[in-house]
Amino acid sequence: MQLGKLNILLLALLVAAMVMIPCVSAVEEQQEQEKMIQADPKTDLAGYVPVDILSIDPSVKAATPYYYLLVLSDEGKKHLLDSIDAAEIIGDSGITATPDEKVSFKKSLKTLWMNYPVVSKTVKGSLGYPSYGGTVTTLTFSPSLKKEVHLSDAENSLLAKVQSRKQVSSDKIASGGVSPKWAGSPTHERISYWAASKESFPQPSTVSANAPVPDTWPAVLPEPFCTLYRSLNHYYSPNTGTGNAPSQTATYISAANSQYKAGSSYYTQAATSLGYASHFLEDVGNPMHTGKETEQYSNPWVHFNYEAYVGDRWYSSNFDTVVSNNNNYYWYTDWAAGNRALAGYSNGYLDTIYTKVYNKGQNWNLSQDTSIDAITQNLVLATAKYTNGLALYARIG
Ligand SMILES: [Zn+2]
Repeated sequence: MQLGKLNILLLALLVAAMVMIPCVSAVEEQQEQEKMIQADPKTDLAGYVPVDILSIDPSVKAATPYYYLLVLSDEGKKHLLDSIDAAEIIGDSGITATPDEKVSFKKSLKTLWMNYPVVSKTVKGSLGYPSYGGTVTTLTFSPSLKKEVHLSDAENSLLAKVQSRKQVSSDKIASGGVSPKWAGSPTHERISYWAASKESFPQPSTVSANAPVPDTWPAVLPEPFCTLYRSLNHYYSPNTGTGNAPSQTATYISAANSQYKAGSSYYTQAATSLGYASHFLEDVGNPMHTGKETEQYSNPWVHFNYEAYVGDRWYSSNFDTVVSNNNNYYWYTDWAAGNRALAGYSNGYLDTIYTKVYNKGQNWNLSQDTSIDAITQNLVLATAKYTNGLALYARIG
């Protein structure tokens, strides 16, 4: 009997040990997950990958408002010529273009590209932002063009007509026709979810569910903000200081912080406010929300194609893993300043993302592009580091 009792005791201890092992590792895992580390946004390199940057020389931007049609790659030029073939109306006349007119448009465009050749020069970038050890390719006019380039009125008018081509049947080229996704699922939800979860803010699912909501708010807006960002509130240009995203972030994070401090019966309101605040911060992590207003207004499809790409490839291009693996945060007490800092970061990639997405053409099927992926990984990582800081501020600020 004595031996039997001992056996039962040993068995009980063994069972207890087996139960305890997974318990301990779950706790350890949670503690590990909660070890968030503050980093300095000015010097932080952790997790950022080398990327290849395009830089459009100011002389090219000064030559014509349609400079983005001069810097296209061969692929981009081909897509543009194809879109002239597909267009029904070219220019604002409202008159259907004949096949002969299309041929003549394409010929004039090719002549223009020949007369104003853009060449590229690639150098190795620094180890820090923005290339992180990748390359920097500057697009500039060929040295064969001896003096300062300014396109004539006739040349600009040709490019304006090419720009305002329309496909009447689908209206795709004029309107974009694709719904924005950075502004919705799942980018906002996932970055906000991870921020609240990692920074131990209550109800991370409520934070996540409310993160995309500000895009549904009605607003009376000036163009181009109506077409592109739904509102000036979802935008900030570090170059002109235009846009209310910084003040929106500051307003809602202050509300979140007060509601959190008011106690657990206000946690749902606090999580909702944090969701809103994070939305306006995350928006400017997308370079398309930080500049090139006129270029984007004329080509809204570039903006929408990029957002659709990031949304569609959120898991397959590992953007979610980049966010979930990150345990850094950037700390601000002034979150309008935090918003402006993130806008400055993402704006450094605007020339590159805009040009690369334009080169893919209007009808890009969103197939994977590893150079766009690498830049987007850095963008969502930076956005996550800022949003983590925002969530922490909501709790302890
Ligand atoms: Zn938005």
